[in-house]
Amino acid sequence: MAKLAKKKKSLSGLGARYGIKPRKQFTQVHRVLKSTRKCPECGSLKFGREAVGIWSCKKCAFKVAGSAYDVKL
Ligand SMILES: [Zn+2]
Repeated sequence: MAKLAKKKKSLSGLGARYGIKPRKQFTQVHRVLKSTRKCPECGSLKFGREAVGIWSCKKCAFKVAGSAYDVKL
């Protein structure tokens, strides 16, 4: 029997709270925040956010300022 699968984006992280709009926005921001990035210095994929606006590489300790949820301003 063939399943009729609807395409759904996963809205994970907030449970059933806050209503649909904030959850969608949260999912969007969260996806951007947690996506894998390449370090511009050494090319390692361990590049991520250290604090709000501070992006750093865990391998070579390269630090760069960016925006809150993405490296680009
Ligand atoms: Zn690096």
